[in-house]
Amino acid sequence: MKPKLVVGNWKMNKSFDDAQDLILDIQNALKDKRLQTEVILCPPLVYMELLTDIAEEEDSQFYAGAQNCSEHGAGAYTGEVSAEMLASMGVEFCIVGHSERRKYFGEDNTIVAQKVKILLDNDVVPIVCCGELLEERQQGIHAQVVEKQISEALFGLKPSDFERVIIAYEPVWAIGTGETATPAQAQEMHAFIRGLIEKKYGTEMAYNTYILYGGSCNPKNAVDLFMQSDVDGGLIGGASLKANDFVAIIEAGETVIKDN
Ligand code: PEP
Repeated sequence: MKPKLVVGNWKMNKSFDDAQDLILDIQNALKDKRLQTEVILCPPLVYMELLTDIAEEEDSQFYAGAQNCSEHGAGAYTGEVSAEMLASMGVEFCIVGHSERRKYFGEDNTIVAQKVKILLDNDVVPIVCCGELLEERQQGIHAQVVEKQISEALFGLKPSDFERVIIAYEPVWAIGTGETATPAQAQEMHAFIRGLIEKKYGTEMAYNTYILYGGSCNPKNAVDLFMQSDVDGGLIGGASLKANDFVAIIEAGETVIKDN
């Protein structure tokens, strides 16, 4: 089993002071641990420098990630932030295609593909979200929906680019609802996604690709989810806003790795 990866997506939460406290609390809690689990924090962009200052320190236990970027290069796009700007600030990862971006900001698979490309061109690793709506699962078309999202957003990439991508399976009905996919449901979809990658890019690429689970993951269910052989970690929303909960999820990653 590969070491786990845990990503915190703060969404549009926290004041400046609260953001600073949360970063320091997480940093202090992780300080003396020799973690195998990798950790990425994705705060709102206005607080990014708080994070990159610490993330760049030698003993830092986490990396800096953004929640979004523009699909365009530099230019007249008022209010937007480019992949190039992220890279210039030391941001190494960026979430793309989150269901909230798809729902509220019209981010479709074509835009996701453009964002993935521009991030990779700037050496920022895209964390690409996919996942079905509740009605799509009820109709039994969840696998087709996820296959379309992944193939349209990612399968145009050459192997040397695809190998730098992280995927997050986030069933939309589980995001922020307190309703988590069962470990079996998560495993089934993750194995399906890995199978798609294997068909397109081969067995080694399929094994090496990180596929995270997201959707109401918390300290109580993290071990059971992370124990699934195709679940390589988690994209954590609500539970990443409290240092104790987030650190407990990171520790779940450690527990699973030690036991396997
Ligand atoms: C998310 O928004 O990516 C997410 C997984 O949220 P939550 O953990 O709150 O369901």
